[in-house]
Amino acid sequence: MSLDRWVVCEQCDSVYTRRPLRPGEVADCARCGHHLYRHHRFDLERLLALTLATAIVFVMANVYPVVALNAQGAYNAATIWGAVIATWESGVAPVAFISALLVFFFPLSQICLFAYVLLGLRRGRRPAEFRQAMHALSLMQPWSMAEVFMLGILVAIVKLHGVMTVIPGIGLWSFAILTLLLAALTSYDLQDLWDIAEDVEAGRPA
Ligand SMILES: [Zn+2]
Repeated sequence: MSLDRWVVCEQCDSVYTRRPLRPGEVADCARCGHHLYRHHRFDLERLLALTLATAIVFVMANVYPVVALNAQGAYNAATIWGAVIATWESGVAPVAFISALLVFFFPLSQICLFAYVLLGLRRGRRPAEFRQAMHALSLMQPWSMAEVFMLGILVAIVKLHGVMTVIPGIGLWSFAILTLLLAALTSYDLQDLWDIAEDVEAGRPA
């Protein structure tokens, strides 16, 4: 009988036979109540597809103009980075810095870390820096606030609309979709990923 059919409670060393769970089910230790394993909301392939989709939309949101402004015949297209640099140059460096963190560096780091962990697991083992990557992901989870920036863009568009013609660009739609995808990705329960990693290493389908 193979060892991976058994699950040992980390808290009290009780041993159980692992059985398949239905969606939403959780297996807890009967003796101490410690969480043992759960049914995965997403399997490895779906999570990887979500990560890749987020990466593509992230590139689009950063490359294409968010809005095009037309004031008295002068046409001006602004990308997210253009807006961050303009904010920096207008003398409010802290706002520019925080915006850059929230809309660029945190999402990019999270996408890269998920891709690193998932691509490693897809090859059938934990990547070398799995533990560090998971730790970084859990640290960054509360800082995923792309929706705050999205709200800021919408408020700015509404305010500017009275003064000049504002035409939403591909970057804006991409950023809206990115906000949704990032919310799905970063709200992912990382404990599931630990469970998936255990399944992968034990040769169970993940
Ligand atoms: Zn226990």
